[in-house]
Amino acid sequence: MSVRLKNKIRLYTDTSLILGRIIELNPQDSHYLCNVMRLTKGAALNCFNAKDGEYECQIVTADKKHCSIRVDFRVNNSILAPDIWLLFAPLKKDKTDFVIEKTTELGVHTIVPIITQNTIAEKVRTERFSAQAKEAAEQCERTDIPIIKEAVRLKDLLCAWPQERRLFFLDETLSGKDCLELFNAYKNQPAAILVGPEGGFSSEEKELIDSLPFACGVSLGPRILRAETAACAALSIWQAVCGDWSKGE
Ligand code: SAM
Repeated sequence: MSVRLKNKIRLYTDTSLILGRIIELNPQDSHYLCNVMRLTKGAALNCFNAKDGEYECQIVTADKKHCSIRVDFRVNNSILAPDIWLLFAPLKKDKTDFVIEKTTELGVHTIVPIITQNTIAEKVRTERFSAQAKEAAEQCERTDIPIIKEAVRLKDLLCAWPQERRLFFLDETLSGKDCLELFNAYKNQPAAILVGPEGGFSSEEKELIDSLPFACGVSLGPRILRAETAACAALSIWQAVCGDWSKGE
């Protein structure tokens, strides 16, 4: 049974959460708790990670740069996101921020930034993506945070693809290959959703993807969606068909 946490601050930590343990927080988290949220000694918050679950903790020292907490008691078990990857070509900054935040809320397991022929982002800052995913996970009550992989060229990724993982390729030119049906057909397989960049995939890339035995093109309907809309719509539908809704109840 999972406990709903009304308005309590949640903080992800990769330090093991063990009852009674005192944890020195890093400077960013210390700054956030003490300067931004203005918590002081004695205040309670929740800390979590995928391995240990979620614990109520208490601040035992608080100054501007250093904050330490004590792990008091467990409030929730760890619930891991289902095994769904999102492969997307980074967009302009605010749109990429949107994709990271919203797909974290929608329960993506792993995010792989891909470089395609029409990718417009000049620099892919994966450390920034990780910080955004952590923040979104803290807000939405996940107990894990998505894995953010280093950016990779689409061709290189596909050459080294784990064959047992089904690749759903979002293709706006298809009609009649509705994603609901196809997600359902491969329901028990690890999966990935591939979204194209703003300018779409090149014909060379499409040809390559179409030739792969583990790939299958899917449509999200008759309208051309922006890449960030397509990513969120596809993930929502995949979760509705293949996600584990019984967890956390
Ligand atoms: N081909 C167009 C172009 O040249 O600008 C549009 C690309 S669309 C803005 C970006 C990506 O969103 C596409 O590559 C595709 O992966 C996905 N997408 C958009 N609408 C879709 C739809 N109706 N069905 C499936 N995928 C879609």
